[in-house]
Amino acid sequence: MVRKRNQGPTPASGEALRLESVTKVYGTGDGAVTALDRVSLALPTGSFTAIMGPSGSGKSTLLQCAAGLDRPDSGRVLVDGEEMTGGSEAALTKFRRRRIGFVFQNYNLLPTLNVLENTTLPLKLAGRRIDRARAQEVLMQVGLGGRVKHRPDELSGGQRQRVAIARALVTEPSVVFADEPTGALDTRSARDVLRLLQEAVRVHNRTVVMVTHDPVAASYADAVQFLADGRLAGQLFAPTVDAVAERLAHLGDAVATDVRSEV
Ligand code: ADP
Repeated sequence: MVRKRNQGPTPASGEALRLESVTKVYGTGDGAVTALDRVSLALPTGSFTAIMGPSGSGKSTLLQCAAGLDRPDSGRVLVDGEEMTGGSEAALTKFRRRRIGFVFQNYNLLPTLNVLENTTLPLKLAGRRIDRARAQEVLMQVGLGGRVKHRPDELSGGQRQRVAIARALVTEPSVVFADEPTGALDTRSARDVLRLLQEAVRVHNRTVVMVTHDPVAASYADAVQFLADGRLAGQLFAPTVDAVAERLAHLGDAVATDVRSEV
């Protein structure tokens, strides 16, 4: 399969997401766990990044902090150059609603709302004008133009996840965070979902950050950032399935691997 990759910087590229020395510690005293240890990362606008690492390496915590769902203990998170981590809880919620889109493993659709209503919900929550034509257009893009009146329980898993992607894109967010978006899907639906995320990046210049444990899913991204013990442990650009699997297998000795590859 031949897939086009981003070649070089996108026109008018900026930095969609920046983490500066983000640290998160759970608990106190002897029981304290450093889930993230001074993680710094800068992702350009129009990039698709996969975050990978063993269970407990800090992937969820990274996503929660980067997406403004949780606050780091220290360090800063900037979205489109604007600091997200500074203000009040209400300000953070407002910022998140305006700038961030989410796609979860279990779709998180509201069962009583139809496809169109689920898609426009973030606009409603943000107090923004509901542009039905725009929502329809996004639903067309994800291949659900003919199902706007269906409820989630009338759709397959892959279709539900495509609604979730439409919902994430309708607000035109700076960054879309996807947490194991293909974890509950069969191979074919997973591929459709990954292609849609790719299209959001390549065609619409969105920025996508995806946590995944699946090297196939990660191979759709432009780059993979590996985490081990709450620290970044290397990155891989234009990742292939084999290269990702190989790096994951050796993540335990990631530091040694990095040192070797530099000499
Ligand atoms: P991953 O997503 O890679 O599995 P997590 O970010 O969930 O990793 O967890 C990183 C570390 O932080 C783990 O050691 C985990 O046990 C710990 N942790 C995560 N959330 C909490 C919490 N709410 N309370 C205490 N420890 C937590």
